[in-house]
Amino acid sequence: MAISWYRQTHWRILIALGLGLVYGVIATLSGWGTFTTNWIAPFGTIFLRLLLLIAVPLVLVSLITGVASLADLQKLSRIGGKTIGIYIGTTLVALVIGLSVVNLIRPGESIPDGLRERLQATYQGDVADREQAAAQAAARGPLQPLVDMVPDNFVGSASSNRNMLNMVFVAFLVGTALILIPKEKAKPLLDLCESVNEVIIKIVELVIRFAPIGVFALIADTVTGVAGDSPGELAQLLGALGLYCLCVLLGMTIHMLVTYPALLKLRTPLKLRHFFPGIVPAQLVAFSTSSSAATLPVTMKNAEQNLGVSEEVASFVLPLGATINMDGTALYQAVAAVFIAQTLGIALDLQAQLTIVFMALLASIGTAAVPSAGVVMLVIILEAIGVPIAGIALILGVDRFLDMCRTAANVTGDATVAAVVAASENQLFPTATNGLAEAEDLPGGPGHP
Ligand code: ASP
Repeated sequence: MAISWYRQTHWRILIALGLGLVYGVIATLSGWGTFTTNWIAPFGTIFLRLLLLIAVPLVLVSLITGVASLADLQKLSRIGGKTIGIYIGTTLVALVIGLSVVNLIRPGESIPDGLRERLQATYQGDVADREQAAAQAAARGPLQPLVDMVPDNFVGSASSNRNMLNMVFVAFLVGTALILIPKEKAKPLLDLCESVNEVIIKIVELVIRFAPIGVFALIADTVTGVAGDSPGELAQLLGALGLYCLCVLLGMTIHMLVTYPALLKLRTPLKLRHFFPGIVPAQLVAFSTSSSAATLPVTMKNAEQNLGVSEEVASFVLPLGATINMDGTALYQAVAAVFIAQTLGIALDLQAQLTIVFMALLASIGTAAVPSAGVVMLVIILEAIGVPIAGIALILGVDRFLDMCRTAANVTGDATVAAVVAASENQLFPTATNGLAEAEDLPGGPGHP
Protein backbone atom coordinates (compact mmCIF):
# COMPACT_ATOMS: atom_id res chain seq x y z
CA MET A 1 0.00 0.00 0.00
CA ALA A 2 2.77 2.36 1.03
CA ILE A 3 4.34 2.24 -2.40
CA SER A 4 1.23 1.57 -4.47
CA TRP A 5 0.64 5.29 -5.18
CA TYR A 6 4.14 5.42 -6.63
CA ARG A 7 3.09 2.94 -9.28
CA GLN A 8 0.65 5.47 -10.71
CA THR A 9 2.17 7.13 -13.73
CA HIS A 10 1.16 10.66 -12.84
CA TRP A 11 2.86 10.51 -9.45
CA ARG A 12 6.05 9.25 -10.99
CA ILE A 13 5.94 11.98 -13.64
CA LEU A 14 5.15 14.61 -11.02
CA ILE A 15 8.06 13.52 -8.83
CA ALA A 16 10.35 13.53 -11.87
CA LEU A 17 9.16 17.03 -12.69
CA GLY A 18 9.92 18.24 -9.16
CA LEU A 19 13.33 16.59 -9.18
CA GLY A 20 14.05 18.10 -12.60
CA LEU A 21 13.26 21.55 -11.22
CA VAL A 22 15.45 21.05 -8.15
CA TYR A 23 18.26 19.69 -10.27
CA GLY A 24 17.87 22.60 -12.73
CA VAL A 25 18.25 25.16 -9.96
CA ILE A 26 21.26 23.36 -8.43
CA ALA A 27 22.86 22.94 -11.87
CA THR A 28 22.39 26.64 -12.59
CA LEU A 29 23.90 27.65 -9.25
CA SER A 30 26.81 25.27 -9.73
CA GLY A 31 27.45 26.14 -13.39
CA TRP A 32 26.63 22.66 -14.69
CA GLY A 33 24.96 24.01 -17.81
CA THR A 34 27.26 22.22 -20.26
CA PHE A 35 27.12 18.94 -18.33
CA THR A 36 23.33 19.12 -18.37
CA THR A 37 23.24 19.84 -22.09
CA ASN A 38 25.63 16.99 -22.88
CA TRP A 39 24.52 14.28 -20.48
CA ILE A 40 20.98 14.98 -19.28
CA ALA A 41 19.17 16.83 -22.05
CA PRO A 42 19.56 14.04 -24.68
CA PHE A 43 17.23 11.78 -22.66
CA GLY A 44 14.55 14.46 -22.83
CA THR A 45 15.09 14.81 -26.55
CA ILE A 46 14.79 11.05 -27.02
CA PHE A 47 11.51 11.01 -25.07
CA LEU A 48 10.15 13.90 -27.13
CA ARG A 49 11.25 12.26 -30.36
CA LEU A 50 9.62 8.96 -29.44
CA LEU A 51 6.34 10.75 -28.87
CA LEU A 52 6.61 12.80 -32.04
CA LEU A 53 7.56 9.70 -33.99
CA ILE A 54 4.11 8.31 -33.45
CA ALA A 55 2.23 11.61 -33.80
CA VAL A 56 1.75 11.63 -37.61
CA PRO A 57 0.68 7.97 -37.95
CA LEU A 58 -1.55 8.32 -34.91
CA VAL A 59 -3.38 11.39 -36.23
CA LEU A 60 -3.73 9.72 -39.59
CA VAL A 61 -4.99 6.29 -38.58
CA SER A 62 -7.13 7.37 -35.66
CA LEU A 63 -8.84 10.09 -37.67
CA ILE A 64 -9.37 7.78 -40.65
CA THR A 65 -10.93 5.13 -38.40
CA GLY A 66 -12.69 7.87 -36.44
CA VAL A 67 -14.29 9.39 -39.53
CA ALA A 68 -15.02 6.04 -41.20
CA SER A 69 -16.57 4.61 -38.05
CA LEU A 70 -19.18 7.36 -38.12
CA ALA A 71 -20.91 5.07 -40.61
CA ASP A 72 -22.62 7.71 -42.69
CA LEU A 73 -22.03 11.25 -43.80
CA GLN A 74 -24.95 12.52 -41.73
CA LYS A 75 -23.37 11.24 -38.55
CA LEU A 76 -19.99 12.62 -39.63
CA SER A 77 -21.40 16.09 -40.17
CA ARG A 78 -23.38 15.93 -36.91
CA ILE A 79 -20.45 14.93 -34.69
CA GLY A 80 -17.97 16.96 -36.74
CA GLY A 81 -20.13 20.09 -36.59
CA LYS A 82 -20.73 19.66 -32.88
CA THR A 83 -17.02 19.12 -32.15
CA ILE A 84 -15.79 22.07 -34.19
CA GLY A 85 -18.59 24.28 -32.79
CA ILE A 86 -17.62 23.52 -29.18
CA TYR A 87 -13.93 23.91 -29.98
CA ILE A 88 -14.51 27.39 -31.41
CA GLY A 89 -16.89 28.31 -28.57
CA THR A 90 -14.41 27.41 -25.82
CA THR A 91 -11.59 29.20 -27.64
CA LEU A 92 -13.71 32.37 -27.86
CA VAL A 93 -14.44 32.18 -24.11
CA ALA A 94 -10.69 31.74 -23.45
CA LEU A 95 -9.98 34.84 -25.54
CA VAL A 96 -12.54 36.95 -23.70
CA ILE A 97 -11.08 35.83 -20.35
CA GLY A 98 -7.52 36.59 -21.49
CA LEU A 99 -8.40 40.04 -22.81
CA SER A 100 -10.37 40.92 -19.67
CA VAL A 101 -7.50 39.93 -17.40
CA VAL A 102 -4.80 41.78 -19.35
CA ASN A 103 -6.93 44.92 -19.69
CA LEU A 104 -7.66 44.92 -15.98
CA ILE A 105 -4.15 44.20 -14.68
CA ARG A 106 -2.33 46.17 -17.43
CA PRO A 107 1.03 44.41 -16.91
CA GLY A 108 2.73 46.26 -19.80
CA GLU A 109 2.73 49.54 -17.96
CA SER A 110 5.11 48.33 -15.23
CA ILE A 111 8.24 47.52 -17.27
CA PRO A 112 11.18 49.83 -16.46
CA ASP A 113 12.60 51.62 -19.54
CA GLY A 114 16.15 50.27 -19.16
CA LEU A 115 15.02 46.67 -18.96
CA ARG A 116 12.74 47.10 -21.97
CA GLU A 117 15.65 48.23 -24.12
CA ARG A 118 17.94 45.51 -22.83
CA LEU A 119 15.37 42.80 -23.55
CA GLN A 120 14.82 44.10 -27.04
CA ALA A 121 18.55 44.06 -27.70
CA THR A 122 19.03 40.56 -26.23
CA TYR A 123 16.40 38.89 -28.35
CA GLN A 124 16.89 40.85 -31.54
CA GLY A 125 18.30 37.76 -33.35
CA ASP A 126 15.42 35.53 -32.32
CA VAL A 127 12.97 38.22 -33.34
CA ALA A 128 14.51 38.39 -36.79
CA ASP A 129 13.95 34.64 -37.29
CA ARG A 130 10.33 34.83 -36.24
CA GLU A 131 9.75 37.99 -38.25
CA GLN A 132 11.00 36.21 -41.32
CA ALA A 133 8.68 33.25 -40.76
CA ALA A 134 5.74 35.56 -40.15
CA ALA A 135 6.59 37.80 -43.10
CA GLN A 136 6.46 34.77 -45.38
CA ALA A 137 3.06 33.87 -43.97
CA ALA A 138 1.71 37.41 -44.15
CA ALA A 139 2.93 38.09 -47.69
CA ARG A 140 0.48 35.55 -49.02
CA GLY A 141 -3.19 36.21 -49.79
CA PRO A 142 -6.04 36.00 -47.26
CA LEU A 143 -7.14 32.56 -48.47
CA GLN A 144 -3.64 31.12 -48.31
CA PRO A 145 -4.26 29.30 -44.97
CA LEU A 146 -7.09 27.44 -46.71
CA VAL A 147 -4.82 26.58 -49.63
CA ASP A 148 -2.08 25.47 -47.22
CA MET A 149 -4.46 23.02 -45.61
CA VAL A 150 -4.62 21.01 -48.83
CA PRO A 151 -1.37 19.13 -49.43
CA ASP A 152 -0.07 18.51 -52.92
CA ASN A 153 2.17 15.68 -51.89
CA PHE A 154 1.25 13.21 -49.21
CA VAL A 155 4.77 12.02 -48.43
CA GLY A 156 6.07 15.59 -48.31
CA SER A 157 3.40 16.63 -45.82
CA ALA A 158 3.73 13.52 -43.71
CA SER A 159 7.41 14.22 -43.29
CA SER A 160 6.91 17.10 -40.86
CA ASN A 161 5.01 17.35 -37.60
CA ARG A 162 4.29 20.95 -38.49
CA ASN A 163 1.98 19.83 -41.27
CA MET A 164 -0.54 18.18 -39.01
CA LEU A 165 -3.40 20.16 -40.55
CA ASN A 166 -2.53 18.50 -43.86
CA MET A 167 -2.77 15.10 -42.22
CA VAL A 168 -6.16 16.01 -40.77
CA PHE A 169 -7.32 16.94 -44.26
CA VAL A 170 -6.03 13.70 -45.79
CA ALA A 171 -7.62 11.65 -42.99
CA PHE A 172 -10.98 13.36 -43.52
CA LEU A 173 -10.78 12.71 -47.24
CA VAL A 174 -9.81 9.04 -46.85
CA GLY A 175 -12.34 8.47 -44.03
CA THR A 176 -15.15 10.03 -46.08
CA ALA A 177 -14.24 7.92 -49.13
CA LEU A 178 -14.26 4.81 -46.94
CA ILE A 179 -17.84 5.61 -45.91
CA LEU A 180 -18.84 6.00 -49.54
CA ILE A 181 -17.32 2.80 -51.00
CA PRO A 182 -18.85 -0.68 -50.51
CA LYS A 183 -18.22 -2.10 -47.03
CA GLU A 184 -16.30 -5.16 -48.21
CA LYS A 185 -13.90 -2.95 -50.17
CA ALA A 186 -13.37 -0.64 -47.20
CA LYS A 187 -12.74 -3.40 -44.70
CA PRO A 188 -9.09 -4.27 -45.52
CA LEU A 189 -7.93 -0.67 -45.14
CA LEU A 190 -9.97 -0.19 -41.96
CA ASP A 191 -8.54 -3.40 -40.51
CA LEU A 192 -5.06 -2.19 -41.33
CA CYS A 193 -5.73 1.17 -39.64
CA GLU A 194 -7.09 -0.56 -36.58
CA SER A 195 -4.08 -2.83 -36.40
CA VAL A 196 -1.71 0.14 -36.74
CA ASN A 197 -3.74 1.86 -34.02
CA GLU A 198 -3.23 -1.08 -31.66
CA VAL A 199 0.49 -1.09 -32.36
CA ILE A 200 0.71 2.63 -31.66
CA ILE A 201 -1.19 2.27 -28.40
CA LYS A 202 1.28 -0.41 -27.31
CA ILE A 203 4.20 1.80 -28.27
CA VAL A 204 2.65 4.59 -26.21
CA GLU A 205 2.49 2.32 -23.20
CA LEU A 206 6.16 1.49 -23.62
CA VAL A 207 7.17 5.11 -24.14
CA ILE A 208 5.20 6.24 -21.10
CA ARG A 209 7.25 3.96 -18.88
CA PHE A 210 10.17 6.10 -19.90
CA ALA A 211 8.23 9.33 -19.16
CA PRO A 212 9.68 10.09 -15.70
CA ILE A 213 13.24 10.04 -17.07
CA GLY A 214 12.22 12.05 -20.12
CA VAL A 215 10.33 14.60 -18.05
CA PHE A 216 13.20 14.97 -15.57
CA ALA A 217 15.63 15.63 -18.41
CA LEU A 218 13.34 18.05 -20.27
CA ILE A 219 12.64 20.13 -17.17
CA ALA A 220 16.27 20.12 -16.00
CA ASP A 221 17.39 21.28 -19.44
CA THR A 222 14.71 23.96 -19.63
CA VAL A 223 15.61 25.44 -16.25
CA THR A 224 19.33 25.55 -16.98
CA GLY A 225 18.69 26.80 -20.52
CA VAL A 226 16.49 29.69 -19.41
CA ALA A 227 18.77 30.69 -16.57
CA GLY A 228 21.86 30.38 -18.80
CA ASP A 229 24.19 29.67 -15.87
CA SER A 230 23.19 33.01 -14.44
CA PRO A 231 20.45 32.90 -11.82
CA GLY A 232 20.54 36.67 -11.33
CA GLU A 233 19.43 37.16 -14.92
CA LEU A 234 16.59 34.68 -14.46
CA ALA A 235 15.40 36.41 -11.30
CA GLN A 236 15.43 39.85 -12.87
CA LEU A 237 13.62 38.65 -15.96
CA LEU A 238 11.00 36.80 -13.99
CA GLY A 239 10.48 39.79 -11.75
CA ALA A 240 9.88 42.20 -14.61
CA LEU A 241 7.74 39.85 -16.62
CA GLY A 242 6.05 38.33 -13.59
CA LEU A 243 2.89 40.37 -14.01
CA TYR A 244 2.60 39.40 -17.64
CA CYS A 245 3.06 35.71 -16.78
CA LEU A 246 0.56 36.13 -13.99
CA CYS A 247 -2.04 37.43 -16.46
CA VAL A 248 -1.53 34.45 -18.79
CA LEU A 249 -1.60 31.98 -15.92
CA LEU A 250 -4.55 33.63 -14.20
CA GLY A 251 -6.53 33.62 -17.45
CA MET A 252 -5.75 29.94 -18.08
CA THR A 253 -6.55 29.04 -14.48
CA ILE A 254 -9.95 30.76 -14.71
CA HIS A 255 -10.61 28.98 -18.00
CA MET A 256 -9.61 25.59 -16.57
CA LEU A 257 -11.40 26.03 -13.25
CA VAL A 258 -14.55 27.76 -14.47
CA THR A 259 -15.23 27.22 -18.19
CA TYR A 260 -14.32 23.52 -18.43
CA PRO A 261 -15.91 22.49 -15.11
CA ALA A 262 -19.08 24.40 -16.08
CA LEU A 263 -19.21 22.59 -19.43
CA LEU A 264 -18.54 19.24 -17.80
CA LYS A 265 -21.15 19.82 -15.11
CA LEU A 266 -23.79 21.03 -17.53
CA ARG A 267 -23.15 18.55 -20.31
CA THR A 268 -21.72 15.36 -18.79
CA PRO A 269 -22.34 13.18 -15.78
CA LEU A 270 -18.57 13.14 -15.08
CA LYS A 271 -17.52 14.18 -11.62
CA LEU A 272 -14.79 16.83 -11.52
CA ARG A 273 -12.95 14.89 -8.86
CA HIS A 274 -12.64 12.09 -11.42
CA PHE A 275 -12.06 14.23 -14.48
CA PHE A 276 -9.01 16.15 -13.34
CA PRO A 277 -7.02 13.24 -11.83
CA GLY A 278 -7.97 11.26 -14.95
CA ILE A 279 -6.15 13.64 -17.27
CA VAL A 280 -3.22 14.58 -15.03
CA PRO A 281 -0.78 12.32 -16.93
CA ALA A 282 -1.67 14.04 -20.22
CA GLN A 283 -1.33 17.47 -18.57
CA LEU A 284 2.09 16.59 -17.16
CA VAL A 285 3.35 15.21 -20.47
CA ALA A 286 2.01 18.33 -22.21
CA PHE A 287 3.74 20.52 -19.64
CA SER A 288 7.05 18.72 -20.10
CA THR A 289 7.01 18.36 -23.88
CA SER A 290 5.27 21.65 -24.85
CA SER A 291 3.64 19.77 -27.67
CA SER A 292 -0.02 18.81 -28.01
CA ALA A 293 0.92 16.50 -30.88
CA ALA A 294 3.47 14.66 -28.77
CA THR A 295 0.93 14.42 -25.95
CA LEU A 296 -1.90 13.13 -28.15
CA PRO A 297 -1.28 9.41 -27.49
CA VAL A 298 -1.44 10.02 -23.74
CA THR A 299 -4.51 12.26 -24.03
CA MET A 300 -6.29 9.52 -25.97
CA LYS A 301 -5.29 6.85 -23.48
CA ASN A 302 -6.47 8.97 -20.51
CA ALA A 303 -9.75 9.96 -22.18
CA GLU A 304 -10.63 6.36 -23.00
CA GLN A 305 -9.33 4.58 -19.93
CA ASN A 306 -9.90 7.17 -17.20
CA LEU A 307 -12.82 9.25 -18.44
CA GLY A 308 -14.69 6.49 -20.27
CA VAL A 309 -14.88 8.29 -23.63
CA SER A 310 -15.66 5.73 -26.34
CA GLU A 311 -12.94 4.88 -28.81
CA GLU A 312 -15.14 6.13 -31.63
CA VAL A 313 -15.45 9.62 -30.16
CA ALA A 314 -11.89 9.80 -28.79
CA SER A 315 -10.31 8.83 -32.08
CA PHE A 316 -12.24 11.52 -33.88
CA VAL A 317 -12.37 14.41 -31.42
CA LEU A 318 -8.87 14.25 -29.89
CA PRO A 319 -6.60 14.17 -32.96
CA LEU A 320 -8.70 16.98 -34.41
CA GLY A 321 -8.46 18.90 -31.13
CA ALA A 322 -4.70 18.45 -30.82
CA THR A 323 -4.41 20.09 -34.22
CA ILE A 324 -7.01 22.87 -34.19
CA ASN A 325 -8.17 23.44 -30.60
CA MET A 326 -5.73 25.51 -28.59
CA ASP A 327 -7.50 27.54 -25.93
CA GLY A 328 -4.32 28.07 -23.92
CA THR A 329 -2.45 29.28 -27.00
CA ALA A 330 -5.26 31.65 -28.07
CA LEU A 331 -5.50 33.13 -24.57
CA TYR A 332 -1.73 33.56 -24.39
CA GLN A 333 -1.60 35.19 -27.83
CA ALA A 334 -4.28 37.71 -26.84
CA VAL A 335 -2.60 38.57 -23.54
CA ALA A 336 0.85 38.79 -25.16
CA ALA A 337 -0.38 41.05 -27.98
CA VAL A 338 -2.01 43.50 -25.54
CA PHE A 339 0.96 43.31 -23.15
CA ILE A 340 3.41 44.23 -25.93
CA ALA A 341 1.17 47.07 -27.08
CA GLN A 342 0.91 48.37 -23.49
CA THR A 343 4.67 48.14 -23.02
CA LEU A 344 5.32 50.11 -26.17
CA GLY A 345 2.68 52.67 -25.20
CA ILE A 346 0.28 51.81 -28.02
CA ALA A 347 -3.42 52.17 -27.13
CA LEU A 348 -5.69 49.44 -28.49
CA ASP A 349 -9.30 50.47 -29.12
CA LEU A 350 -12.28 48.13 -29.19
CA GLN A 351 -11.83 47.44 -32.88
CA ALA A 352 -8.20 46.43 -32.32
CA GLN A 353 -9.24 44.14 -29.47
CA LEU A 354 -11.91 42.52 -31.66
CA THR A 355 -9.28 42.05 -34.35
CA ILE A 356 -7.17 40.28 -31.73
CA VAL A 357 -10.09 37.94 -30.93
CA PHE A 358 -10.63 37.10 -34.58
CA MET A 359 -6.95 36.75 -35.45
CA ALA A 360 -6.09 34.76 -32.32
CA LEU A 361 -8.95 32.36 -33.03
CA LEU A 362 -7.59 31.72 -36.52
CA ALA A 363 -3.97 31.77 -35.36
CA SER A 364 -4.63 29.18 -32.67
CA ILE A 365 -6.29 26.91 -35.22
CA GLY A 366 -3.31 27.32 -37.53
CA THR A 367 -0.70 26.97 -34.78
CA ALA A 368 1.24 23.73 -35.13
CA ALA A 369 1.03 21.47 -32.08
CA VAL A 370 4.77 21.69 -31.45
CA PRO A 371 6.91 23.73 -29.03
CA SER A 372 6.99 27.51 -29.56
CA ALA A 373 4.61 27.47 -32.52
CA GLY A 374 2.29 29.90 -30.74
CA VAL A 375 4.85 32.69 -30.68
CA VAL A 376 5.33 32.53 -34.45
CA MET A 377 1.61 33.00 -34.99
CA LEU A 378 1.65 35.83 -32.45
CA VAL A 379 3.72 37.80 -34.92
CA ILE A 380 0.86 37.64 -37.41
CA ILE A 381 -1.56 39.00 -34.80
CA LEU A 382 0.80 41.87 -33.98
CA GLU A 383 0.97 42.74 -37.67
CA ALA A 384 -2.81 42.81 -37.90
CA ILE A 385 -3.14 45.34 -35.08
CA GLY A 386 -0.15 47.43 -36.14
CA VAL A 387 2.12 46.70 -33.17
CA PRO A 388 5.88 46.51 -33.95
CA ILE A 389 6.93 42.88 -34.19
CA ALA A 390 10.21 43.59 -32.42
CA GLY A 391 8.03 43.75 -29.31
CA ILE A 392 8.05 39.97 -29.02
CA ALA A 393 11.63 40.36 -27.82
CA LEU A 394 10.05 41.42 -24.54
CA ILE A 395 8.38 38.10 -23.93
CA LEU A 396 10.70 35.51 -25.48
CA GLY A 397 12.60 35.01 -22.24
CA VAL A 398 9.60 33.55 -20.46
CA ASP A 399 7.97 31.98 -23.47
CA ARG A 400 9.22 28.46 -22.87
CA PHE A 401 7.57 28.33 -19.46
CA LEU A 402 4.30 29.78 -20.76
CA ASP A 403 4.44 27.33 -23.68
CA MET A 404 4.52 24.48 -21.18
CA CYS A 405 1.50 25.87 -19.35
CA ARG A 406 -0.55 26.70 -22.44
CA THR A 407 0.07 23.25 -23.90
CA ALA A 408 -1.29 21.70 -20.67
CA ALA A 409 -4.33 23.98 -21.02
CA ASN A 410 -4.71 22.98 -24.68
CA VAL A 411 -4.89 19.26 -23.95
CA THR A 412 -7.27 19.84 -21.02
CA GLY A 413 -9.59 21.60 -23.46
CA ASP A 414 -9.39 18.70 -25.91
CA ALA A 415 -10.22 16.16 -23.19
CA THR A 416 -13.13 18.30 -21.94
CA VAL A 417 -14.67 18.56 -25.39
CA ALA A 418 -14.14 14.82 -25.97
CA ALA A 419 -16.13 14.10 -22.79
CA VAL A 420 -18.87 16.58 -23.76
CA VAL A 421 -19.22 15.17 -27.29
CA ALA A 422 -19.14 11.60 -25.95
CA ALA A 423 -21.88 12.36 -23.41
CA SER A 424 -24.04 14.00 -26.07
CA GLU A 425 -23.73 10.88 -28.22
CA ASN A 426 -24.38 8.50 -25.30
CA GLN A 427 -20.81 7.31 -25.64
CA LEU A 428 -19.41 8.08 -22.20
CA PHE A 429 -19.10 4.75 -20.47
CA PRO A 430 -18.41 3.82 -16.88
CA THR A 431 -14.89 2.82 -15.95
CA ALA A 432 -13.31 1.97 -12.65
CA THR A 433 -12.02 5.49 -12.25
CA ASN A 434 -14.46 7.94 -13.79
CA GLY A 435 -17.21 7.66 -11.21
CA LEU A 436 -19.95 7.23 -13.79
CA ALA A 437 -21.21 4.14 -12.08
CA GLU A 438 -22.29 6.34 -9.17
CA ALA A 439 -23.70 8.96 -11.48
CA GLU A 440 -25.83 6.44 -13.31
CA ASP A 441 -28.65 6.71 -10.83
CA LEU A 442 -28.80 10.47 -11.16
CA PRO A 443 -31.20 12.09 -13.58
CA GLY A 444 -29.31 12.75 -16.79
CA GLY A 445 -26.88 9.91 -16.06
CA PRO A 446 -25.05 8.34 -18.92
CA GLY A 447 -26.74 6.21 -21.47
CA HIS A 448 -25.25 2.82 -22.02
CA PRO A 449 -25.50 0.52 -24.93
N1 ASP B 1 3.12 24.22 -27.87
C1 ASP B 1 1.72 24.45 -28.09
C2 ASP B 1 1.02 23.13 -28.33
O1 ASP B 1 1.61 22.20 -28.82
C3 ASP B 1 1.46 25.36 -29.22
C4 ASP B 1 1.97 26.73 -28.86
O2 ASP B 1 3.13 27.02 -29.09
O3 ASP B 1 1.18 27.52 -28.30
O4 ASP B 1 -0.14 22.98 -27.99
